[in-house]
Amino acid sequence: MISFPRIAIIGAGPSGSTCSFFLSKHQIPHVLIDTADFPRDKICGDAISGKALHILRKMDPQIVQKWNGEASFTDTWGISFTAPNGKNLDIPFKKERRDGDLPVGFVSKRTDFDHYLFQMAQSPYAQIHGRTTLVGVQKTSTGILLELQKDGKVEKMEVDLVIGAEGERSVVAKVLAGYKKEPRHFSAGIRQYWTGVTNCHAENYIELHFLKDLLPGYFWIFPMSDGTCNVGLGMRSDRVSKGKVNLKKELERIIQEHPQFKERFQHAEALELPKGWGLPMGSKQQTIGGEGFLLLGDAASLIDPFTGEGIGNGMKSGWIAAELIKDCLDRKQWDSLPNLYQKKVFRSLGDELRVSDFLQRSLDFPWLFNAVVRKANKSPLLKETLICMFEDVDLRQQLRKPKFYWDLLVK
Ligand SMILES: Cc1cc2nc3c(=O)[nH]c(=O)nc-3n(C[C@H](O)[C@H](O)[C@H](O)COP(=O)(O)OP(=O)(O)OC[C@H]3O[C@@H](n4cnc5c(N)ncnc54)[C@H](O)[C@@H]3O)c2cc1C
Repeated sequence: MISFPRIAIIGAGPSGSTCSFFLSKHQIPHVLIDTADFPRDKICGDAISGKALHILRKMDPQIVQKWNGEASFTDTWGISFTAPNGKNLDIPFKKERRDGDLPVGFVSKRTDFDHYLFQMAQSPYAQIHGRTTLVGVQKTSTGILLELQKDGKVEKMEVDLVIGAEGERSVVAKVLAGYKKEPRHFSAGIRQYWTGVTNCHAENYIELHFLKDLLPGYFWIFPMSDGTCNVGLGMRSDRVSKGKVNLKKELERIIQEHPQFKERFQHAEALELPKGWGLPMGSKQQTIGGEGFLLLGDAASLIDPFTGEGIGNGMKSGWIAAELIKDCLDRKQWDSLPNLYQKKVFRSLGDELRVSDFLQRSLDFPWLFNAVVRKANKSPLLKETLICMFEDVDLRQQLRKPKFYWDLLVK
């Protein structure tokens, strides 16, 4: 009989559920622990990118067909940007990538999306503990000791590997990897669901508005087919503190007074009070694995610093972790797991995180963003290049090169 290491995943959000799914696929037993009872909400923009779909397709090749036309999954066909000078640029998702008539991006309330993923993680190999909170973790001479709280009682569980996927407030990251919140690499975001917002794109383009007063953050409107919109804004935490910005007031101000939006919200109705949550950004490479632990998704600070997308990166880290666990078990090289994981995640995501960090920093020069949008609206070739950049990380590297901007400005 094969003897497996004792593995616990803390957190059954997109990162943890994905990791659990792939561990089960490889018939590796593990425990999946979450403080919540699913379905549960998570403050988010709810945009499910092509990267997330790529992994979802590996979990279920028919997933896009299943979601297409389902009320809780709104298909989205492009992105609409507003530059700091108020000019717009619409980027449709690349036609060749459209899989027949199937969408390449969705918007789905996290209550629905996370529940869907959590259900996909149900398996005889996954022992699931709901309403169970990790309150403490420590290394011992024989493994990693978890302190878990359920129904007011504290229980202990010893494992060989703890996978921290508990999001922004990860206990595992704090205790075992020594994470501290760094405002330069952290953003604050708020979300508010609305109904009745007018003038949304007919193909449900998600809207990112880089308004002058919000840089290097943005205001968003992500429409859903039931007439609801996910509306919110995010901003880097050091800038929030420096400018003493009150995000909730700022959101209210934009909706009520901004010339570009006030009419669109004139007859709209807020469905909730604005709710806030943190975004740990991948603008600084952190230690995401060590003796007896791995970190996934937000616990590993993997959110894209420019777009704020974290679901796809979280799922990718969960998938990589599960594949490497299988690999290390097969090769009987368990000790090499953390190092391999660290290398593989940043080999896979490092370049795009660096480009996104660059783009975020370049928002300190709004004229550059204005120039790109102005030129792209005039030049079909540049627009096509930008569309391709969404798909192609190598091409996106051009954005870090001064030559790209030189050509743009002088040609
Ligand atoms: C305002 C805002 C807007 C965003 N918009 C987008 C967007 O549109 N698209 C996108 O891709 N990303 C977006 N993100 C980022 C995205 O929400 C995260 O990157 C994503 O949720 C990360 O998934 P995760 O599984 O790592 O963590 P989470 O989704 O946070 O899941 C963590 C899980 O761990 C559980 N948990 C927490 N603590 C404990 C504990 N101590 N013990 C046990 N369980 C615990 C929680 O209940 C939860 O289920 C946004 C984030 C914010 C804040």
